[in-house]
Amino acid sequence: MSEEKKRYAVVGAGPMGLMAAMELLERGHRVDLYERDDRIGGMSASFDFDGLEIERYYHFVCKTDHALFELMASLGLSERLKWTDTRMGYYYDGALYDWGTPWALLAFPKLDPISKFRYALHVMATKNVSDWSALDRVNATSWLRRWLGERGYEVLWRRTFELKFFEYTEGLSAAWIGTRIKRIALSRRNLFNESLGYIEGGSETLLEAMERRILALGGAIHLRQGIDQVNVDGGRVTGVRVAGVDRDCDAVLSTVPIQYVPAMVPALPAQFAERVRKIENIPVACVILKLRQPLSGNFWTNISDRAIEIPGLIEYSNLNPESGGISIVYAPFYMPKTHPKWASSNDSLIDEVIGYLAAINPQFRPEWVLARHCHRYDFAQTICPPGFQEMLPPMKTPVQGFYMADTSYYYPEDRSINESVAVGRKLAAAALAG
Ligand SMILES: Cc1cc2nc3c(=O)[nH]c(=O)nc-3n(C[C@H](O)[C@H](O)[C@H](O)COP(=O)(O)OP(=O)(O)OC[C@H]3O[C@@H](n4cnc5c(N)ncnc54)[C@H](O)[C@@H]3O)c2cc1C
Repeated sequence: MSEEKKRYAVVGAGPMGLMAAMELLERGHRVDLYERDDRIGGMSASFDFDGLEIERYYHFVCKTDHALFELMASLGLSERLKWTDTRMGYYYDGALYDWGTPWALLAFPKLDPISKFRYALHVMATKNVSDWSALDRVNATSWLRRWLGERGYEVLWRRTFELKFFEYTEGLSAAWIGTRIKRIALSRRNLFNESLGYIEGGSETLLEAMERRILALGGAIHLRQGIDQVNVDGGRVTGVRVAGVDRDCDAVLSTVPIQYVPAMVPALPAQFAERVRKIENIPVACVILKLRQPLSGNFWTNISDRAIEIPGLIEYSNLNPESGGISIVYAPFYMPKTHPKWASSNDSLIDEVIGYLAAINPQFRPEWVLARHCHRYDFAQTICPPGFQEMLPPMKTPVQGFYMADTSYYYPEDRSINESVAVGRKLAAAALAG
């Protein structure tokens, strides 16, 4: 018997929404994809940075991003995935050190040999974890202290936690931190070379190919058309409201940050909406600079220094050389909206970052800055406390025909386009099964 063809609305045209839409269309259903922004991509979207088309937020690919590789192969894009031997640095207490190789660890003067050994052992053990369920319930900072000791934790992790998670620092899941360590640790050519990937032309190459596939399959993408409300009658989805106009559909798949969901679906039972509200997510303000010459040879510089209030700098041009000799540096400020700095202007955040650069490279002069920008995203990073697996509401909600997921459903994995692709597929499968 052939499957009944339905009309779906997908909310949000980031990689997850695009992926879910592709899956539904490939099964022969009708799909309307609604996006509030003026472009597709969500956190992966690009912008015109003074003549250079580049992502608002940096993106690297890891060797373990299998869902992404599969998608790129199906879109004929495998050749566009490039790999670079990247270098990492660690700016600690006023000096920049090499990082990320056994030699760098041995040469690092700020840790005693036992702490170094414990650190190496921890990375090796974490690399081999495949079942994260036990660590789901464990507190991340206690877990790190247990493995590394107080000194190791103090030198290697404390400042990163404080500058990224602030008041949440002592309430995070070890599984969530562990998968980040594992993902980077496995993205190596060998013990001595970290190897990270980028998509030629940036994430836009992938997004545009997904868009083309959606249109070719008969789907529609509606930009600047945010969903105001999901209409429900008798506990069942009947349509969506966009700019005051009701449009019929059989089911809705939401891929927007779930913090938006309770207001978007007022018909959700109060208890379920309350469960959704318990999931917290912090914003990011991400500075991007174009510099006349390279700041360093590192792709990633972790920072732990009392005088610098960002956890790291990402010199993207040391991964992806497509900016033609010009250096591209990103500096993310993650912070809860309660943090006083969130109220600062973009210009003041940019000036703050520029003020830090001479610490990383004493030759740096403000005249090197050719262009500057700062983007903000309200729900950039889900906070995953111990026991998060159980906190996550199911994708299939009590409203018949309403399914939801967002970046928190990557758990225990960290944010990535790869995870959006994997979760987008799962969301479509849940809707098709429902
Ligand atoms: C600073 C930073 C660095 C990152 N680094 C990497 C990296 O190195 N590698 C990597 O793979 N990933 C990275 N990511 C993560 C990656 O960008 C995300 O995982 C991915 O883009 C999430 O896609 P998504 O579709 O799941 O969600 P989102 O990108 O959040 O997309 C949701 C979409 O929904 C839209 N929307 C919201 N409300 C409505 C509404 N009411 N109606 C219609 N549309 C609506 C939004 O405009 C948005 O386009 C990074 C992200 C950030 C912020």
